[in-house]
Amino acid sequence: MADIVIIGAGVGGMPMAYEMKALARPEDRVIVVSDKDYFHFVPSNPWVAVDWRKRDDILIPLDKPLSKRSIELVVAVVEKVVPEGNRLELSDGRSLTYDHLVIATGPRLAFDEVPGLGPEGETQSICHVDHAEKACERWKVFVEKPGPIVVGAVQGASCFGPAYEFAFIMDKDLRDRKIRDQVPITFVTPEPYIGHLGLDGVGDSKTMMESELRQHHIDWICNARVEKIENGVMYVVECDEQGEEKKRHELPFDYSMMLPAFTGIDAVRGVEGLVNPRGFVIIDDYQRNPTHPNIWGIGVAVAIAPKKPTPVPTGVPKTGFMIESMVTATALNIRAELDGEPASSRASWNAVCLADMGDTGIAFVAMPQIPPRNVNWMKKGKWVHLAKVAFEKYFMRKVSHGQCDPIYEKVVLKSLGIEKLKSQ
Ligand SMILES: Cc1cc2nc3c(=O)[nH]c(=O)nc-3n(C[C@H](O)[C@H](O)[C@H](O)COP(=O)(O)OP(=O)(O)OC[C@H]3O[C@@H](n4cnc5c(N)ncnc54)[C@H](O)[C@@H]3O)c2cc1C
Repeated sequence: MADIVIIGAGVGGMPMAYEMKALARPEDRVIVVSDKDYFHFVPSNPWVAVDWRKRDDILIPLDKPLSKRSIELVVAVVEKVVPEGNRLELSDGRSLTYDHLVIATGPRLAFDEVPGLGPEGETQSICHVDHAEKACERWKVFVEKPGPIVVGAVQGASCFGPAYEFAFIMDKDLRDRKIRDQVPITFVTPEPYIGHLGLDGVGDSKTMMESELRQHHIDWICNARVEKIENGVMYVVECDEQGEEKKRHELPFDYSMMLPAFTGIDAVRGVEGLVNPRGFVIIDDYQRNPTHPNIWGIGVAVAIAPKKPTPVPTGVPKTGFMIESMVTATALNIRAELDGEPASSRASWNAVCLADMGDTGIAFVAMPQIPPRNVNWMKKGKWVHLAKVAFEKYFMRKVSHGQCDPIYEKVVLKSLGIEKLKSQ
């Protein structure tokens, strides 16, 4: 009998629990430890922030779906991972031991790295549903008295898709309200060029995204380092190709949403051999930590080195398709270990993304994620927006019904007729 503990009940953690339970032996226990008693679907947060979704639309309480599958739930913050004792220290004073541990905790949001950044400071966030709700309250006030918007991501960020999405979603909401003409929008990003996305571009993403921003009257500043944010002004240093200061900008705003850089969570930071200096879990080809081989990592919590450094630091995004394949590989590998077999399943390092633009959208497929690639595919259309809505529904159903279906393969690639790309 083995205790398999999963920390985190998010986009990676919930499918992990279901797939692990389906693959585990009857005598094994699967235990989820989550700091929240609910799952929330992070990709829908931008819609919550403009009131197109309510909080409850994208939340699922954890107890029922997990207990239906005989998966145990512990609601507590993991404060420390102690690999030497195969033990977790929890916020309620308890400790929990494991035979296998899967770290699926997503990111810590590093608002503290830029003065004035984040919901406790001057800018809004869409990274968590709590933030998105707060951003929505501010949005309702803003649309009554519109003014300039600054939107984007700060240095060290790795998740650029939602920044572009949110710029276009706000644009659509303002057009619907017939007040877009009163709102200058500036997109600020550490990416060396528009459409880089932390991936050195996908297909013709540079031209296409620039063209979209132009058509939506959104200005941009690339190679941007945000120095500080004070009293409704963002102080931005635009850098040259060496990362040296080229120009300074003082951008006044009445509304701002900026994505922060990510780090690993506090519970793993500094644990010898487990994480890199930013606190991301070091994994081998099989999702397993080389120093502590009964610890596995999936999702945003894992370390991926950018292949090509950028003048202003950027990270590599970890998106749903990739996370789905990390989950399956990890579940298969833990089962192999339980059977005394070597771990042999690898995740596919591919990126498939649906970037919503409010009424239309852009889909991109990058296989593998880091260039040079076998598939470099990008298309725009209303169908992307519809596919994203369908995807949200499928994912929510998967979590509430405890299904193990691979959604990306089943819904995104297949239903969009691009499944054949997967085999290339
Ligand atoms: C705004 C936004 C939109 C995105 N949109 C898309 C998209 O459209 N498509 C796409 O492919 N990707 C998207 N992504 C990227 C990625 O798919 C998501 O970030 C996804 O949620 C990552 O899954 P995860 O399981 O790694 O982390 P999460 O889903 O964030 O889950 C981590 C869980 O761990 C819990 N946790 C954290 N610390 C602890 C602790 N110490 N103890 C216990 N529990 C803890 C958290 O509360 C959370 O429930 C988006 C990201 C963001 C931020």
